[in-house]
Amino acid sequence: MSSLRKYFVTTIAVVLVFTINFLAFAESNNLERAKGVILLIGDGMGINQVKSAGIYAQRILGKDLAINTIQTSGLTTTHAANSKVTDSAAAATALYSGHKTNTGQLSILPDGRKVFNVAFAAKKAGLSVGVVSTTRLTDATPAAIYSSSARRDCEAYIAGQLPEFSPDVILGGGGAYFVPSSQQGSKRTDQKDIIELMKGRGYGFVENNSDLKAVNPETVDKLFGLFSLSNMAYVIDREGHKVLSNQPNLAEMTKIVLSIVGRNSKGFFVMIEGGRIDHACHNQDIKTMITETLDFDAAVGLALSYQKTHPDVLVIVTADHETGGLIHLPDGDDFTIDPLPLEPIKRSLTYLEDKIKTAPDQQEAILKSAGLNLTEEEAELLKNNQTKVVEEKPSGNGDKAKRKFAKSATLEALSMITSQRAKVDWTSFGHTEQPVMTKAVGPGEKLFSGSYDNTDIAKKIAEILNLSLPIPALETDQTSIFPQATGAASCP
Ligand SMILES: [Zn+2]
Repeated sequence: MSSLRKYFVTTIAVVLVFTINFLAFAESNNLERAKGVILLIGDGMGINQVKSAGIYAQRILGKDLAINTIQTSGLTTTHAANSKVTDSAAAATALYSGHKTNTGQLSILPDGRKVFNVAFAAKKAGLSVGVVSTTRLTDATPAAIYSSSARRDCEAYIAGQLPEFSPDVILGGGGAYFVPSSQQGSKRTDQKDIIELMKGRGYGFVENNSDLKAVNPETVDKLFGLFSLSNMAYVIDREGHKVLSNQPNLAEMTKIVLSIVGRNSKGFFVMIEGGRIDHACHNQDIKTMITETLDFDAAVGLALSYQKTHPDVLVIVTADHETGGLIHLPDGDDFTIDPLPLEPIKRSLTYLEDKIKTAPDQQEAILKSAGLNLTEEEAELLKNNQTKVVEEKPSGNGDKAKRKFAKSATLEALSMITSQRAKVDWTSFGHTEQPVMTKAVGPGEKLFSGSYDNTDIAKKIAEILNLSLPIPALETDQTSIFPQATGAASCP
């Protein structure tokens, strides 16, 4: 080869290598940005929870879950800083801020520094923020958006931080922590009236579905909704109930929040939580778990339709952890849930437990009217369990976790009966360390395929919304940028 030819071959080779490298670099940096992010969190919604609800939807309702129509999907690890098994506080902190913390802590690191999250960053950048949950708004998943607390159970203290953060729209339960102690049902120890404070800051206030339906999302900029004193009712318990039937479902709340925050030309960050899937799993109540997951899925469906007409919006569906260690038992060659025996059940097991407690002699009639006609064998199981557990009630020195999730004899037996009917079982009364499924549709969705940690979700959201997450700091360092609690009540 002549030296000139050698020169050209080498030059072409160098140019080719450079071009290929450049294209690869451009590809990796060709990040899509979204104008809005809708983060939907199924609390306690593990893979088998979604599978159970999916089989129920297909076989009983003749439809597919909206969640299952999402193509891009990944697996997310959920451990806390101090435990393989997380709680909702450490998980929510990780999902919004990108930092691991100890269980029980909201937006505060083990060393005491406070963290910034994507909602703070979004607000600072002029985006709108929306928060929706079926639990108390002071419960961990919604609370970690707008507050920080070394203890998640300081709910009055947490509520006191809401007016400072002021998400544009916030809807859910937990009214007891927002009304002064003089008011009936209040769980505050002071006279702070946070609803009045919020009204003073220009918020429209709604307390039932009729109020919510009357809201004109074109003219309202700030909306605060408290639909119950504690958690909102399980969807299954609302039907035909005089008061509870006027609580909005998750999709109705999602619709309003999107119509309001969607008007901000700078964009938005919205968190929607199906918060009571977790509670149903703690109670090992399979039918209620399914109906709560279906309620959550309807909100996912609504977010997906919104995304279709707003292609610059990213929808993410995930869970904070799995609850109950739900497994499907063998049915012939298959491991699958049998949804048919669950179909007639019309109330949650805790609702039935309460009714039975007040009228034990009416037990059979109560169960029958809720669609739970017990076979002779099942009636025997219930009777035996009610006697047995009373006799063997553990003393105060029993296992701590068991005591924490201890169930009444009635609830335990009803859970066994319905689980056996559906051919499922539970391996835990609490949360498990199983990874959860994360799905995404919209700009940047590809970042959500593969395996990653829950802390990565916050980082991905920040990247896609072009937000920067400031470094965590001690409160004393940066008092001006953290919200101050108005009314500390019983906690720090
Ligand atoms: Zn949780």
